[in-house]
Amino acid sequence: MTEVDASTLDAAEIWYLLDGDDRIVDVGGAWDEVAAKGGAPHLAGEQLLGSSIYNHVAGHFTKKFLRAFLAQARLSDELTRQAYRCDSPAAKRLMEMRAVVEGLDRLRVSHVMLGERALPFAVHVREAPRAQARRLRCSSCNRLRLKDGQVWMEPEECLAAGETALVMHTICPDCRMQVGMRRQGAIFFPAQR
Ligand SMILES: [Zn+2]
Repeated sequence: MTEVDASTLDAAEIWYLLDGDDRIVDVGGAWDEVAAKGGAPHLAGEQLLGSSIYNHVAGHFTKKFLRAFLAQARLSDELTRQAYRCDSPAAKRLMEMRAVVEGLDRLRVSHVMLGERALPFAVHVREAPRAQARRLRCSSCNRLRLKDGQVWMEPEECLAAGETALVMHTICPDCRMQVGMRRQGAIFFPAQR
């Protein structure tokens, strides 16, 4: 869900600390490794400091989804969790985002891999500008939908082997509902813009 190539997110945990405005004030774990492997050295640990976390997330609804999650975590005394998919070309991977309040207004967010399963063939997905994107991809469950279609499908169900899917990121209705229900209402997360 970030600009870092998802395939470089190994099982290693990454974490970051956010200030009250959701700006990154500290990072740790495998960030540097992830950035270097993903060909994005500008995203290496220290270069992230001071930037808004939303600058590193693609897609209007994905930003909104993250904003709702972080807002909820700030209101909670407990660890707040959100499972999501972050596939590599070779495997489906189930990740979990965890957030906990630390000190007065800091929020510690970590990403942990819960498990993975090999895909039947390599699946390549690339973020593309609106005009070029043929599909939407849900940043939470990783399913794809044709831009003018209705049905959300697993990548291996709708892509051909060797195809690179050009996508725009969003959050599918099922995943929006999940967050909406958890928050007991759509106040923080309206179903439609
Ligand atoms: Zn989804």
